[in-house]
Amino acid sequence: MSVRTRFPPSPTGYLHIGGARTALFSWLYARKYGGAFVLRIEDTDRERSTEESVQAIFDGLQWLGLDYDEGPFYQTGRMGRYREVVEQLLREGKAYRCYCSKEELDALRERQRAKGEKPRYDGRCRQRDTPVPGVDPVVRFRNPRDGDVVIDDVVKGRIIISNGELDDLIIARSDGMPTYNFTVVVDDMDMRITHVIRGDDHVNNTPKQINILRALGNEPPKYAHVPMILGEDGKRLSKRHGAVSVMQYRDEGYLPEALLNYLVRLGWSHGDQEIFSRQEMIELFDIGEVHRSAAVFNPDKLLWLNYEYMKSLSLTDLRDHARWFFGNRGIDIDAQPNWHEVLKANQERSKTLVELVERSLFFFRDVDGYDEKSAKKFFKGQAGEILEELRSELAGIEPWQPETIHQCVHGLAEKRSVGLGKIAQPVRVAVAGVAVSPPIDDTLAILGKEATLRRIDAAVAYINSRA
Ligand code: GLU
Repeated sequence: MSVRTRFPPSPTGYLHIGGARTALFSWLYARKYGGAFVLRIEDTDRERSTEESVQAIFDGLQWLGLDYDEGPFYQTGRMGRYREVVEQLLREGKAYRCYCSKEELDALRERQRAKGEKPRYDGRCRQRDTPVPGVDPVVRFRNPRDGDVVIDDVVKGRIIISNGELDDLIIARSDGMPTYNFTVVVDDMDMRITHVIRGDDHVNNTPKQINILRALGNEPPKYAHVPMILGEDGKRLSKRHGAVSVMQYRDEGYLPEALLNYLVRLGWSHGDQEIFSRQEMIELFDIGEVHRSAAVFNPDKLLWLNYEYMKSLSLTDLRDHARWFFGNRGIDIDAQPNWHEVLKANQERSKTLVELVERSLFFFRDVDGYDEKSAKKFFKGQAGEILEELRSELAGIEPWQPETIHQCVHGLAEKRSVGLGKIAQPVRVAVAGVAVSPPIDDTLAILGKEATLRRIDAAVAYINSRA
């Protein structure tokens, strides 16, 4: 039987880190065994499901390169099918209509609590054969009363739940809407899912789902319940811990490959290997090796991985990834004759694409104002004079290249008996607007003679205007 996995998000928000990891694990498993990965949109909660969230899920999966083979299937498009299965269970006596009013159920619960019992439906409508006039019934699944449900969970090991612990679950509400645990079962059955990989917040649903599946004549798939992701404070990962939306990582300049690599290591390891190509992940990842304990999200490690991936990219790939960010800052990177040198000079200095773009901008357009602190610190004392003198020396340089610029800057430092910083820093602020850039000779060489001289002139004018 070929492997079939699924990712069934409820479209009630963005694609978050936890969802993306479950999607990745399911996708890897399907890819490893040449199986199918199915996308299903669980949108039956019409109040909370939105088109934007559906789109956010598509965008997130696409950005991460997690392609699906079947779907997207929408649960709202399968209502007829759910109704059909409810009818089948009713017909076969495996489900029954329940007419109990809210007051009746509340009173039952109160009595059970008073006796110190766990509140649960007592099955009083199981034997009822006449409808109650004027009441729209719910439909309940006739859960087995005896025996246990055994789950041989691929991650958690054996879990045994006694049927005595389980309620006669509502599978269709009084307005006919099927409930979550029921739609999942019908879908997993119809879509012939062989491996259900999902967050362990669903463990409690699994015995109910298994019972319904069996009632429908199916053997359950294999289950792998993946432990939660926690923040570094030990609490469940949430917005408090920073970005949790996958697309926010894109916007912050992370590479999809780095995020995938980070996600695969959240709760899984392979010796002490840290970097995995997509192909390696497919070959090496095994859902059975996922750790039983919760994983802790470490943003610094993700940043480190991103840096490693950024460093390893070819300049052309780096440009392709950065294009969108440059566009957002009004720069058409493909139209810049020196993009190659600029990206090369900044590649190893940047941990994210956003940082790369920020560090590169001044090469492509004149500075519009100086960073206040840098100007205060480096445009003082003899800076104006030094810049003027440097400017006249630089004007005579031929050819304009790092070596000749280097000689010129060093020559001036010697001549004036000042440290190199006294020259390099003011000129840096003059050309970049800030006091950080690649080595000054490279910076000026890449910038070009004309832009360098023009920007030094502007800085000298600025300094003189404030003297
Ligand atoms: N729609 C459910 C969720 O987003 C999926 C549950 C499952 O994987 O069975 O949590």
